[in-house]
Amino acid sequence: MSDCLFCKINSGEIPADILYQDDDVSVFRDISAQAPCHFLVIPKKHIATINHLQPADAGLLGKMYLTAQDVARQQGISESGFRTVMNCNDDGGQTVYHIHLHVLGGRPMSWPPG
Ligand code: 5GP
Ligand code: ZN
Repeated sequence: MSDCLFCKINSGEIPADILYQDDDVSVFRDISAQAPCHFLVIPKKHIATINHLQPADAGLLGKMYLTAQDVARQQGISESGFRTVMNCNDDGGQTVYHIHLHVLGGRPMSWPPG
């Protein structure tokens, strides 16, 4: 999608601190890190919100989590633990309308979220 920030990161048009990339997903550090380790896992395919997911996207969602697992291990936060979050629409706190899995670690996370 031409005016989507994360599609532009996927294509390389906008730079990012890329941690991993393949045909299906990109992983890069969040520009405004909320934890010592905070990265985003996004699909190459433009999907605006969780509400737009189709049954055919189930495998892609699974791949996003398996990629989060791999990168979390590489970043050294697997054993200490981490939080994964995917926000949806206004009340969920979504600001970029291309789905992304936040992965946050390197400090204890509180619950419930504010
Ligand atoms: P949301 O609020 O939609 O769940 O998360 C969007 C995330 O994208 C935010 O944590 C924000 O800091 C991050 N973000 C916004 N613009 C950019 C950017 O240009 N580069 C990177 N790396 N992260 C961004
Ligand atoms: Zn997009």
